Amino acid sequence: MDVFEFTKQVLAQTDKGMAILDEKGVIRYANLSFYLAAGMLPEQRTYESLTGLYKERNPGILGHLNNLLPGGAWRGSIDLDPAGNDGNRLDAVILRLESEAGRAVYLLSVDPRQRDGKASVYGTVDELTGLPKEEIFLDRVEQFIRFSRREKSFAIMFLIRIDRFNLITDGLGHANSDLILKAVAGRLRQIFRESDTIARVDRDTFGLLLKVAQESHASLVADKVLKNIIRPIPVNEQTVVVSASIGIVSCHGTMKPVERIVEAAEAAMHHASEQGGNMYHFFASDLNDKARKRIEMENNLRTAVEAEEFVLYYQPKVDIDSSRIVGAEALIRWQHPQQGMVPPFQFIPVAEETGLIIDIGRWVLKDACRQTITWQQQGLTPVPVAVNVSPRQFQYPGFYEDVSTALRQSGLDPHLLELEITESMLMSDVEQVIDKLRRLTGVGLNLAIDDFGTGYSNLSYLVRFPVSTLKIDRTFVKDLETDDSMAGLTHSIIAMSKNLNLKIVAEGAENEQHIQFLKDHGCDVVQGYYYSKPVPAEEFAQLLKTGKIKKGV
Ligand code: C2E
Ligand code: MG
Ligand code: MG
Repeated sequence: MDVFEFTKQVLAQTDKGMAILDEKGVIRYANLSFYLAAGMLPEQRTYESLTGLYKERNPGILGHLNNLLPGGAWRGSIDLDPAGNDGNRLDAVILRLESEAGRAVYLLSVDPRQRDGKASVYGTVDELTGLPKEEIFLDRVEQFIRFSRREKSFAIMFLIRIDRFNLITDGLGHANSDLILKAVAGRLRQIFRESDTIARVDRDTFGLLLKVAQESHASLVADKVLKNIIRPIPVNEQTVVVSASIGIVSCHGTMKPVERIVEAAEAAMHHASEQGGNMYHFFASDLNDKARKRIEMENNLRTAVEAEEFVLYYQPKVDIDSSRIVGAEALIRWQHPQQGMVPPFQFIPVAEETGLIIDIGRWVLKDACRQTITWQQQGLTPVPVAVNVSPRQFQYPGFYEDVSTALRQSGLDPHLLELEITESMLMSDVEQVIDKLRRLTGVGLNLAIDDFGTGYSNLSYLVRFPVSTLKIDRTFVKDLETDDSMAGLTHSIIAMSKNLNLKIVAEGAENEQHIQFLKDHGCDVVQGYYYSKPVPAEEFAQLLKTGKIKKGV
C-alpha cells in the first residue's frame, strides 16, 4: 500500500475533519467528518464540489499555503458553510508536507464546532458507548472494501443486534437498557483490536468490521461475540442476561455498493433472530427477498391500524355434552389491500418485535368488547369473548389501562371478557406478574393460559397465578391417535387440572376421534375445526342465534 493510500486509511478512522490537498490546493481526499463539517449531503459528496466550495468560501487560503515551508503549519479559521453565514467559521490547521516526488502536500484539519445547536451534524461518536456512529461505520466499510481487494486477508462485516431489546427497554426502562448497551459495547471493545472497527449503528445494533485469515474464521469470531454477550450483566440491583443475533457478510473482493452489503448483513441478522436469536447467520442471497418483504410488511403494518385493515374472526368454544357454545376466541386477520387476508402468524411476530403490537392489541381489545356488546344489544345471549395477549403487550405499563378503557367504553360486563396469556409471560419476576394479574382479575375478567404444554411451567407452578382456565395446545390433540405418550400427557393434564379446579379447553380438535378421546378423559370444552373454523362476526352471530353446534358424537 503506498503512503497516500495508507494515510487515507488512517484519516478515515479519525473523527476530526481531515482533508489532503495537492500543491494547487485541490482536495484529493476528505474523510467523512470533513464532509459533515461542510454539511454536505451524501449525494453531494465529491472532491470536486468540496474543492469548489472550499476555494470559493476561502479565497485567501492559497496565499497562506504558498507561504508555508515544508513541515510548517498555519492556524486560523476557514469557512465551509455553503450558505456562507458569518460566524460559522471552523478552527483549522493546515500542515505542509512533502510528497515522495518532492511536491507540496497539505493536510487540512478542522475542529468541528457546535453551530447553533446543530451538534448532531458533527456528532460522529455515540455518546453513550463512545463508539463511532453509523455514518462513520459506512464510510469505513467503503474504505475497507476498496483496500481489501488487494489483500490476502478476508474482510468481513458483522451486524450484531441485541435480541428483543424493545422488550428489555419496556421492562427495565430506558436508563437500565442504556446500561446494558454500554456493557455490551464494552465487551465488544474488549475482544477486538484497535484495527477492527466497532460502531453503534442503531439503538440496539452494533457493526463490526474485521479481517480474518480465512472466511471460515468468521464463525469463530461470531461464537466468541455470542458467548461474551450472553454473560450476565449487572444492572443496578439485578442481573440481566441478553443475547444477540448476528448477520455476517463477506466484503471480500466485492464490487457491490455499501448499501447492498449492509442490506445483506441485515437480512442474515433477521434470519438469525427469526430462528430465535442467540445465533449467527451468514448471508445467502435468497434471504434478500425475504428481508425485503419483511421491511415492506413492517412499513405496511404501521399504517394498518389507522387504515382499519384489521378484522376479528371468532371461533366458538363448545361444550361437548350439550353442544352449546360457551365462549368465543377473537382471532385477528389482516385484510391487506394487495395481499388479501393475512393470517396472524405472518404478522404478529413482526408487530411484536417492532412494538406495533401495543397499538394493534389495544384495537383488538376495543373491537372484541364492542362486538360482544353489539351481539348482546341484538338480543343474542352473549358468551365470554377471549382476547389473545402478546408478551410485549403484557409487559407494557399501560396494558391495564388499555383493558379497563376497552371495558368502560364498550360497557361490557367484565365477566364476559377473558384474556389469553402464555406461560412464558409468567416466568420472570413472579411477584410482579402476580400483582399485575390480580389487578386484572380484580375488575372481574377471567384469565386463561393459552397453548398450555408448550412452555416450561408445570401445573403446580401455575396454582400461584389467578388463572381459571387452561387451553391445551393443539399439538397434543393433533397427535392423540398416533402418539400414545401425547395421549397419556393429555390425560394427566386434564386429570390434574380438575384437581386444581381449573377449567380445561382443548384446542384444535378436528375429528370425532379427538372429541371421543377428550370426552372419555373428562375434558368438557373444545375449540376446533370439528365444530367450526374462526368465522366473521356476522357468521358468528348466526351461530349464537341457535346457541348450539350439533354434531354426530
Ligand atoms: P391461538 O391463540 O392458540 O389460537 C388458536 C389458533 O388455532 C387459531 O389460529 C385457530 O384458527 C387455530 N385452530 C383452532 N382450531 C383448529 C383446528 O382444529 N385445527 C387447526 N389446524 N387449527 C385450529 P389463528 O387464528 O391463525 O391464530 C394463530 C395465533 O395467532 C393464535 O394462536 C394467537 O397466538 C395469535 N393471534 C391471533 N389473534 C391474535 C391477537 O389478536 N393478538 C395476539 N397477540 N395474537 C393473536
Ligand atoms: Mg389463543
Ligand atoms: Mg392456542
